[in-house]
Amino acid sequence: MVAIQPDTGTIAVTRTFDGIEAAAHRVIEQVGGMESVMRGAKMAILKPNLVAGRNAASGSTTSFALMKAVAEEVRACGAEPVLCETPGTEFDRDATYTILGIDTFCEENGIRIIRVDPEGGEQDWVELQPEGARRLRRFRVPRILEEARLINLPVLKTHVVSTMTLGMKNPMGILPRPDRRSMHTFGIDQCIVDMNRGIRPDLTIVDGSIGQDGEGPVYGDKADLEVLVAGRDSLAVDLVCCAVVGVRPRDIPHLKLALEQMGKPTWTLAGEDTGVIKKFRLPQQKTLYRFIFWLMFPLDYPYTWIAKRGKHFSTMLYGTGLVGTRPQIQEDKCTRCGVCVETCPLPNVIDLKTLKVNYNTCQRCLLCYEACPEKAISVKGYSGARQ
Ligand code: SF4
Ligand code: SF4
Repeated sequence: MVAIQPDTGTIAVTRTFDGIEAAAHRVIEQVGGMESVMRGAKMAILKPNLVAGRNAASGSTTSFALMKAVAEEVRACGAEPVLCETPGTEFDRDATYTILGIDTFCEENGIRIIRVDPEGGEQDWVELQPEGARRLRRFRVPRILEEARLINLPVLKTHVVSTMTLGMKNPMGILPRPDRRSMHTFGIDQCIVDMNRGIRPDLTIVDGSIGQDGEGPVYGDKADLEVLVAGRDSLAVDLVCCAVVGVRPRDIPHLKLALEQMGKPTWTLAGEDTGVIKKFRLPQQKTLYRFIFWLMFPLDYPYTWIAKRGKHFSTMLYGTGLVGTRPQIQEDKCTRCGVCVETCPLPNVIDLKTLKVNYNTCQRCLLCYEACPEKAISVKGYSGARQ
């Protein structure tokens, strides 16, 4: 995983018209086959994007069909597929997995889940100090990566903080929370470049089967791109993704920095020359929103000194119900039919007596909002979610 010169070779693009699984097998073949990725290793870490409890149909998270196909390919090489991923800091990993059905999916498809200590407990992590890093001079990755290949499975979508989230940003989800906090505090764009000096995925397949534009990465607009983009060099893969959605790489701050500091990679395109499938609308990054979001991270340092281990400033703020995208029941429209309670994948989040949502446990998946037959649930907070 670490410190090998990536073979920039081929970047493959394929449409998913015949199904995501078929397209995934095809795109892997187009970049040289899984044997050339595994090179005899006995384990592959699958790193999807499970940023929040919003399923792949929303374009927020990696599709199960892609993970299933990749796991099959890994197993066909005599190796074990292992999933490792932690959602955004404001969300709970087990609750997010429950909403998405990750445990059941992995069990049915022979994928082992590794739950590394998100707080960076020494036993699970190994420190990297990548040469040439400017701000993120040291960070930790799961120790298990020392003996495994890393298969990076991001989603092709926009991001209200980093403008786009593609191959280069996705590995952030395997860093412990304190290191992710450092990345936000020190400047996310430079830190993404620095992180990629230490983490070089053995294969990246960007899931554009749906994707999102606008106010991604959780509540943006579904993009319905029907495409997968794969390759060994994350920057090259991201540049091709930008071309597919009509975005100039220089408008994405971390890609601009990567091009300036790492140089433009070269590659040969395989598969389909799709042109621009959909011109993406980039998020409107309001300065105040960006500042408030950023502020959560430096404030987290003193907060974690006094709070219980595992508690963070962002989760505390979300728990107040005053910030973030959140469902709210309107008493005057609610008939107390109970559909929202039945729909919510988590226990005891909605109280039908008081019509209150417990924001300490609510993971903001908005399934209740989508299910309410009376349209009695509104969505509060800054997002692209429909009101
Ligand atoms: S689904 Fe809608 S109408 Fe029914 S109890 Fe929930 S909020 Fe009220
Ligand atoms: S209350 Fe609604 S948004 Fe919150 S976890 Fe339950 S279904 Fe998801």
